Amino acid sequence: MLSGFTQAALDLLFPALCPLCQTTLGADRRDPLCGSCWHAITRLGRPRCHVCGAAPPLAMTVDDASAPAVPARPCPTCVADPPPYDYARSAAIFEGALREALHAFKFSGKRALARPLGDLAAEHCVATLVEKIEAVVPVPLAREREHERGFNQAELLARRVARRLGVPARPRWLVRVRATRPQSDLAAAERRANVRGAFRAGPDVGS
Ligand SMILES: [Zn+2]
Ligand SMILES: [Zn+2]
Repeated sequence: MLSGFTQAALDLLFPALCPLCQTTLGADRRDPLCGSCWHAITRLGRPRCHVCGAAPPLAMTVDDASAPAVPARPCPTCVADPPPYDYARSAAIFEGALREALHAFKFSGKRALARPLGDLAAEHCVATLVEKIEAVVPVPLAREREHERGFNQAELLARRVARRLGVPARPRWLVRVRATRPQSDLAAAERRANVRGAFRAGPDVGS
């Protein structure tokens, strides 16, 4: 951690620019994001469904602190067609500043974005989790793709989230059985088919 003075001196010599809007970071900065890009992310409010975690944007809800963080009932969609997972949570809407930040993180090698993006997940999802977390396990990237990119973005995010939650990150607990097509090219149903059976528990699970 740099002291405030060192940070200020460095900023004077090499002003840090936000990778999204290219302006100096300014007040409320969440390095490497500037304060305005950080605040421009549309956070989600409390989930209305304890399974899929569907939630309205935070700005559109009156956050009632007395309401339970985890709703008791699943939504009609999850009742009619229960998803194969126990539950899911989302921190924010994939649009605008968040979409740009994720693209810069994944495709332009801006690894430092793992910090604010991991913090976003930790700050907005933890209160609504159903159980206590024991470890954070990232989805492994295909070896060639990790080699090309130089890092697995899911692992960087998992490490940040794990650190914020005070639990271990376990990147070897899940292993990839086969390569898959990039999910970003596919529609929802194709995404599910694309990754079906592509992963299994690793030999180190539990250690
Ligand atoms: Zn910015
Ligand atoms: Zn649901």
